Amino acid sequence: MDLDSLRACFSGRVLTKSADCEPFVLDWRKVWRGRAAAVAMPDTPEDVAAVVRWCAANRVSIVPQGGNTGLSGGATPDASGDQLVLSLTRLNRVRSVDPVNNTMTVEAGCTLHDVRAAAAEHGRLFPLNMASAGSATIGGNLATNAGGIEALRYGTARRLCLGIEAVTAAGELWSSLRSLRKDNTGYDLRDLLIGSEGTLGIITVAVLSVVPQPTQRVVVWIAIGSMQHACMVFQEAHGHFPAELTSCELVSAGAAGLVERLMPSARIPFAGIPPCAVLLEFSAGAHRHSLESDVEQLLSSLSNRSVIIDAVVADGPSQAARFWASREHISEAQARAGAAIKHDIAVPIAAIPSFVAEADRVVEREFPELELIVFGHLGDGNLHYNLSPRQGVSNDRVNELVQPVNRVVHDVVRRFDGSISAEHGLGVLRRDEADRYRSPVERQLMMAVKQALDPLGLLNPGKVLPGW
Ligand SMILES: Cc1cc2nc3c(=O)[nH]c(=O)nc-3n(C[C@H](O)[C@H](O)[C@H](O)COP(=O)(O)OP(=O)(O)OC[C@H]3O[C@@H](n4cnc5c(N)ncnc54)[C@H](O)[C@@H]3O)c2cc1C
Repeated sequence: MDLDSLRACFSGRVLTKSADCEPFVLDWRKVWRGRAAAVAMPDTPEDVAAVVRWCAANRVSIVPQGGNTGLSGGATPDASGDQLVLSLTRLNRVRSVDPVNNTMTVEAGCTLHDVRAAAAEHGRLFPLNMASAGSATIGGNLATNAGGIEALRYGTARRLCLGIEAVTAAGELWSSLRSLRKDNTGYDLRDLLIGSEGTLGIITVAVLSVVPQPTQRVVVWIAIGSMQHACMVFQEAHGHFPAELTSCELVSAGAAGLVERLMPSARIPFAGIPPCAVLLEFSAGAHRHSLESDVEQLLSSLSNRSVIIDAVVADGPSQAARFWASREHISEAQARAGAAIKHDIAVPIAAIPSFVAEADRVVEREFPELELIVFGHLGDGNLHYNLSPRQGVSNDRVNELVQPVNRVVHDVVRRFDGSISAEHGLGVLRRDEADRYRSPVERQLMMAVKQALDPLGLLNPGKVLPGW
């Protein structure tokens, strides 16, 4: 590969030493490690286009990468050492914030944290948030159609994106940076790129939708006796506060127990571990009177009817942050517990209790060496139905069980008409499994889209669709 001609064709950096490339060839979970011919870090969208044209001319395949926090192996090159990692992290300018139109225009490599901070400076909220916000980029958020902890109220990344600029597989810069909320002028190419995990085009700039910054937040942990009651809590909270309920997160006893054992400073604020717990956040502007007392009224009504066991309302922003930390530390506690088997599933909310009961029954019967660590975005019907080894079970044994456990859990998901990848995308992790559940018509349509947009198969090959 003639890397000198690559260096000459664009402005930015090219990394080739293996120590320099290391952070780009290993994923966040350290599950996938690949090799790269080089890492290209262009400075501008025009430079991204130049790199892609060079790759097309030299038949070099490209792995687009943002913050490398993806959980499905989508941003990791394969083992061949022939692929180019195309890092978007130097495209990191917030170009503008328009508080009248409630939009902002940002480059793809801006971190989610920086986008939120820029919006806040103008009294606006960019309402996408997740524990990886410090590293995850907007380009990666859009490429995976990320969800996160505010999706219940504001939707996933797709709903927050009005316009897009991207580089095609041939290296043309396609700009559709419109900041319109209504635009029915043909096939929605923006929506095609969102969620395509770098396999149809490379996102360089986006116009995002923002909302006025809420000035009030009420955060509450609730201890609950059963999954049925957890769903009732969601239903009532949503029914009473349709405009204010922002997050509804579920933590099972297994997940809470793991955090208490391995990260005691982040434990949930109850004396004992309840069968399940729910973290609710409500938010509103200054015009909304008595939000906290209305929430407390709902809690006492739920308590009087024995729907909930206990509830603690955060007494201010710092306790609210600690409440969120208990939820957000589950992944880290699970990492400390050893190898893990993870699922990112969605089922209709009303089906959650039956889904969990059936999946628990099958998993406990067939895989007694594993402990259930279930948590997630209850208000979106999206659960991380995870498993960790019981004490004394080796990581090697857990790794042997990954495929059989996936099959059992995903078959239950399928019976409930659910999704086996709610917010993390397919990458390589779920590529084949998703294809197994796909109808022939759907497979054919997806292949036709890929063929039309990337006929040489150079954009992130091996991800999303098998055989590409
Ligand atoms: C602690 C933690 C918590 C998380 N919580 C959540 C959560 O609550 N909800 C959620 O949805 N996800 C969550 N994630 C997953 C992850 O942060 C998201 O998927 C995020 O959107 C990935 O952004 P990134 O910039 O790191 O993308 P990367 O990991 O770099 O890439 C992800 C995919 O997008 C492609 N890609 C990246 N940038 C571009 C671009 N500019 N153009 C085209 N393709 C591109 C890559 O090729 C790859 O296929 C979490 C991850 C961690 C580590």
